[in-house]
Amino acid sequence: MKIHALTTGTVSLKQAFLYPDPGPRRQLGLFLPGAWSAPMPIHCWAIEHDGVLRLVDTGETAAARDVPFARMHVTPEQELPAAVAAAGLALEDVSEVVLTHAHGDHIDGSVHVTGRVLINETELRYLHSAAPRVMRRVLRQPLPAGFAPEPFGLDGGPFGAFARSRALSDDRRIVAVDTPGHTTGHISVICVDDSGRHVMLAGDATDSLEQLHARRADAVGPNPTVHVATLDTILAHCANHPTVYLPSHDPDSLARFTAATTVTVDRADQRHGVAGLPAS
Ligand SMILES: [Zn+2]
Repeated sequence: MKIHALTTGTVSLKQAFLYPDPGPRRQLGLFLPGAWSAPMPIHCWAIEHDGVLRLVDTGETAAARDVPFARMHVTPEQELPAAVAAAGLALEDVSEVVLTHAHGDHIDGSVHVTGRVLINETELRYLHSAAPRVMRRVLRQPLPAGFAPEPFGLDGGPFGAFARSRALSDDRRIVAVDTPGHTTGHISVICVDDSGRHVMLAGDATDSLEQLHARRADAVGPNPTVHVATLDTILAHCANHPTVYLPSHDPDSLARFTAATTVTVDRADQRHGVAGLPAS
């Protein structure tokens, strides 16, 4: 199995997104003037395994519009085709795309993809309900042209600490797991690499490893209690499996990924802290 980190530009997030006020002002801060983060990467991932090339998410495009709490910095030269080529891969060889969730910086690049695109059925159902339809109009965030992903259910039973999962590869080494919180139907993809480590492509389950350890819900998720419960599940999973935790926007994801995939197998056990295991 070979995993490639792809990058499609950067995004700056309002601090009120990353460090929300507790209580009723949690989401208000998203729409008030405030400080911004430094640009953070917009990663997506390619997985070569058993002769199949899969993508997890498709990144952002230059056509993206900013919202009151996120500013996109993407040029046409940074979109998915160039990101895939930079990894030495060919877009036409992609046979399957799995989306962690339906935010623009994860799905907009799907305009470049011709293979099948998969999404959690819960996320798709929510996407077509009234509230997100209104928000897309208000924030001028249309779905990408031709967006018609195939829904899948998390009906494959538990995987590690996760109660619900769905194997994406026949050998169950690439598995979608239920990580609701940032969105209602958010999933993460866990790849069991050739040395048995779990490489967790975490989407926006958190924006950083620090946020996971802090067990802090973000400001955009509909239900902070659900979000924190997911973070506890991820931490429980990491405690039982050597895991490389890779959120899409963590400025340290690339370094963690590189460190984890370039150490030899017998040294890997000394790398738990780098790989994202909880410190305790
Ligand atoms: Zn998101």
